[in-house]
Amino acid sequence: MTRKTALSRRPPLARVLLLGAATLTFSSQGAHAQAMPEPLYVKAGHVMLDPAVGTFETDKTLVVQDGKVTGIVDGFAVPAGAHVIDLRDRWVLPGLIDSHVHLTSDVEEGSGRTLSAAAQAMNGIGKAQIMLNQGFTTVADLNGEAEAVFALRDAVDEGLVMGPHILAAGAAIAAHGGHGDVNGQRREVVLALRSPSVCSGADDCRRATREMIMMGADLVKVAVTGGVLSNTNAGLGQQLTDAEIAAVVDAAHHMGRRVTAHAHGADGIEAFLRAGGDSIEHGTFIDAEGVRMLQKTDRYFIPTLLVGEIITRKAKAPGPGGMSPAQREKALAVGPKMIDAARRVHAAGARIAFGTDVVSNGPETANAREFVLLTQAGLSPLEAIRTATVNGADHLGLSAQAGALTPGHDADLIAVSANPLQDVSILQKVSFVMKTGHVVRD
Ligand SMILES: [Zn+2]
Repeated sequence: MTRKTALSRRPPLARVLLLGAATLTFSSQGAHAQAMPEPLYVKAGHVMLDPAVGTFETDKTLVVQDGKVTGIVDGFAVPAGAHVIDLRDRWVLPGLIDSHVHLTSDVEEGSGRTLSAAAQAMNGIGKAQIMLNQGFTTVADLNGEAEAVFALRDAVDEGLVMGPHILAAGAAIAAHGGHGDVNGQRREVVLALRSPSVCSGADDCRRATREMIMMGADLVKVAVTGGVLSNTNAGLGQQLTDAEIAAVVDAAHHMGRRVTAHAHGADGIEAFLRAGGDSIEHGTFIDAEGVRMLQKTDRYFIPTLLVGEIITRKAKAPGPGGMSPAQREKALAVGPKMIDAARRVHAAGARIAFGTDVVSNGPETANAREFVLLTQAGLSPLEAIRTATVNGADHLGLSAQAGALTPGHDADLIAVSANPLQDVSILQKVSFVMKTGHVVRD
């Protein structure tokens, strides 16, 4: 489940390719470009080394070598001739983590199912660059055409294209005819486009889970309830049976993968947590029992408030607005309720990780708008920052690499021009991005 695990799968051929022309073009962005022999010194006027502590320390220099933070020193004295990045007028934080994106398709553009896998992967290259430029140095892709998403992840890992570290689920495990299947098409089309991740019966859902892992899933996504953007009026309650959900969780855990659930209805949320699942995406209709179970099991809740805001706006817009009647009805049921769910989960003290369910660079849909929405749900700016740093890393099993800048962590960092603890919306205007020691945006 760690990036290391994912990397060990890579064929040696790709490393050979890196020695070719691609190195010249992309090495400054690649996660595995040649290690720098000399340390790099990042002078930070204000730096939040560990969001779990949550304070900005002033006038520190971060020593970066081999893509990692190797030391923190007081003040700005560096050896003569050293390679220096000057962020003395900025607020520096760990790179952000969005635990719920769709790089090869998104809510603004529909499912993209009619595109070839190759075209979807190409689509993802642009989205990956946008995410990284906005300061998201690690993302979890939670549903897409499996071949496209895995190819994109691997290309970023090999330094062939620019993007954040990607953990990829491939296609979501889902019920035949449910959220995640190809709905609203004639049968021949459905059969041609249907993902191998769609299943019926516990054995078949175990098969689907194993097949996604075989294809390359770092983690498993399962759609346990209906969803807004599937073109069917099948509701928002539990769709996979208790036995099917248990089989998915069991199969994933036996292969060392975490499982996260798309879940709106309270019945699906509770069935998934009872089955030992790891985290809840959306969680729109979570009830008191669901919140109690979240706390008791210490699982993460990913509120995806940004997609809630976007689908509400789309559903209320006059005219068809790109939504079918079935989608519009569900969007109006879900969108306005998401912030209330986040408010109740946060008030109860359950753990929250940052996830948007979108990838966009429009001013009203930039992923970092989620920070503002989280504060509207009652989180302090620091609590909101934690969801996208230490909590996100913990949720994805990446605490040793990501989410903090204390020595030993990857040199994934961002900078903004004002204190985000005073105005968290400044995170929508990230002005500097470094990924594994390489400057991506300056
Ligand atoms: Zn999603």
